[in-house]
Amino acid sequence: MNRVFNFSAGPAMLPPSVMQRAQQEFTNWRNGGASVMEISHRGADFVEMAQKSEQDLRDLMDIPDDYKVLFMQGGGRGQFAAVPLNISAATDTSLHMVTGSWSKGAVSEADKFNHAEILSEISQRDGKAFVEKPDASAIPQDAAYLHFCPNETVDGVAFDWLPDAGKVPLVADMSSCILSQPLEVSRYGIIYAGAQKNIGPSGLAVVIVHESLLGRPQSVTPSFMDYTQTADNNSMYNTPPTFSWYLAGLVFEWLKEEGGITAIARRNDHKANMLYDAIDSTDFYRSQVHPDCRSKMNVPFQLANPDLDKTFLRLADEAGLKALKGHRFVGGMRASIYNAMPVEGVQALVDFMTDFERQYG
Ligand SMILES: *Cc1c(COP(=O)(O)O)cnc(C)c1O
Repeated sequence: MNRVFNFSAGPAMLPPSVMQRAQQEFTNWRNGGASVMEISHRGADFVEMAQKSEQDLRDLMDIPDDYKVLFMQGGGRGQFAAVPLNISAATDTSLHMVTGSWSKGAVSEADKFNHAEILSEISQRDGKAFVEKPDASAIPQDAAYLHFCPNETVDGVAFDWLPDAGKVPLVADMSSCILSQPLEVSRYGIIYAGAQKNIGPSGLAVVIVHESLLGRPQSVTPSFMDYTQTADNNSMYNTPPTFSWYLAGLVFEWLKEEGGITAIARRNDHKANMLYDAIDSTDFYRSQVHPDCRSKMNVPFQLANPDLDKTFLRLADEAGLKALKGHRFVGGMRASIYNAMPVEGVQALVDFMTDFERQYG
């Protein structure tokens, strides 16, 4: 097979070495004569793998001991429901920063289970999408939590500061940026992520939750979505998505081998700079996001002449640069450059963009 670079937003590319290893041991995991998919999650081998994967994630993110790490089902959107069901009463208010499609989606889901209120919305600066810090004095201290999405996968909007919410716990949807740069877990109440961008196969969600938020689910909370039950059962209250968990574990091992989050963050900075420099260096390409709020994981860009979009996408595809079509809400192009995307992939895209402009500019 020819080498392609897959810029899909999710499910997204995995490190080739991880997939090769999974392939090698697919039918005979740990020399047990069976696939990891075919064995009990309660067996010693799987339990050991599960514990190691959690420890690796704890090491990578430097997760303090008073946080639980949960491996749950239902992806990112599952957590849109699980968060309100676990840490708010039906009469409570949840606050939401709406900075793009995903944080907006979290509002309507939360509103089914509590009273969801929009605290702030995306604004514009110099004609480009920009995230303002919400006014700290406008944050009611009796709110159950403040939800935000620091990397908006669809819109390519990101911010790396934390809202100043006082006592109100911060809940971050990090589906598309977890493990991409260092962060201080102790400043969050909950960090969660659907797996299919930076962790592994879809369906799995990783939840990092402070212990103080456990133990008060709504009475209607389905047991398998209950953080406390999940924690008490080491994420095996019901049968976990074993293959996804195993693959996530391989990705964590890969990240450690790559030098951990600091090293991967340096590479991510480099990749994003290459691409944004290519976009900014010409009027042929554009970004609709303010330079202070640009995602390093998802880079939407437009052609000044959108009539050329189809040609761009076709020729890119032929050149082995796959899945660059922008989200249907945004149009244009989007290059998702998660941890697994090598620098060479971004270089190939930048070279293609330069050639394309030369030919059609
Ligand atoms: C992909 C994504 C989701 C949704 O994940 P699903 O697994 O499809 O439910 C939620 N939030 C963000 C930020 C995402 O990128």
